[in-house]
Amino acid sequence: MEIVTTIAHLRELLHHYRCEDRSVGLVPTMGYLHVGHQSLMRRSAAENEITVSTVFVNPLQFAPDEDLAAYPRDPDGDAAKAEASGTDLLFMPEHDEMYPTPVQTTVSVGGIAGPLEGRSRPTFFDGVATVVAKLFAIAGPCRAYFGEKDWQQLLVVRRLAADLSLPVDVIGCPIVREPDGLAMSSRNAYLTAADRDAAPVLHRALRIGAQLLESGETDVETVRRAIEAVVAEEPLATLDYAAVVDAETLVAPAPDVAELRLLIAAQVGPARLIDNIGATRSVPA
Ligand code: AMP
Repeated sequence: MEIVTTIAHLRELLHHYRCEDRSVGLVPTMGYLHVGHQSLMRRSAAENEITVSTVFVNPLQFAPDEDLAAYPRDPDGDAAKAEASGTDLLFMPEHDEMYPTPVQTTVSVGGIAGPLEGRSRPTFFDGVATVVAKLFAIAGPCRAYFGEKDWQQLLVVRRLAADLSLPVDVIGCPIVREPDGLAMSSRNAYLTAADRDAAPVLHRALRIGAQLLESGETDVETVRRAIEAVVAEEPLATLDYAAVVDAETLVAPAPDVAELRLLIAAQVGPARLIDNIGATRSVPA
């Protein structure tokens, strides 16, 4: 594995590989890698000849009151994990390489970026879309791997690629969880032992909601309230939102829509955690 720190060098290497007709997979991350990130890298390595993973804590996606300075970092550990997971090129640019001058151009996705995370974190998806557009421009034609852990982000990135005709095939990968159901996340590092014990409540609540739907409940508001009630029983968790929506549009599902997504965000101690799960409900034939 080679560590690359400049855009020009990464472009040069990828140009060389493309001339040899080698396919490229891209795995964008903010580092502090865990098994969830590594599952994306392994998938990319299985499906492409060259896997480029990126580690960059993108300041544009943090609001002034969020945890940019405190975001966990472990460049040496990340390099070891990326290499063990099939990464060929690890792109780790410094801030000034990605943003040499104050940013004047940003990318804004409408519609799908509006509700849920978009409502709670109004500048977040513009920050994500801008850095992902840059990474897609740097990487060129490729497959790009994103986790379903960030379901709305996956839809936003798909939309970004489609609307801007970027030559990137966006591929969603399943959520990797701890044995007790907690979705793996770099932010889990913030949890105290007591918070960590409380944190699986997000997944537990989602599963109860999904089970209700799978066992015949069709009213999404009933399901949403059931999810809320589970979280309310955990004193260390404060719910931001619980939503039961059309899995593809993230709006209230029309009566004939069967494929739903249950999404949740909650503060657990110092960490804002998100999670989601899919469920199929029965709809009138
Ligand atoms: P992050 O470093 O948190 O920005 O995440 C980088 C990528 O890894 C995103 O596409 C995430 O959705 C994905 N990811 C993070 N956690 C998980 C997980 N537990 N399972 C699967 N993918 C994940």
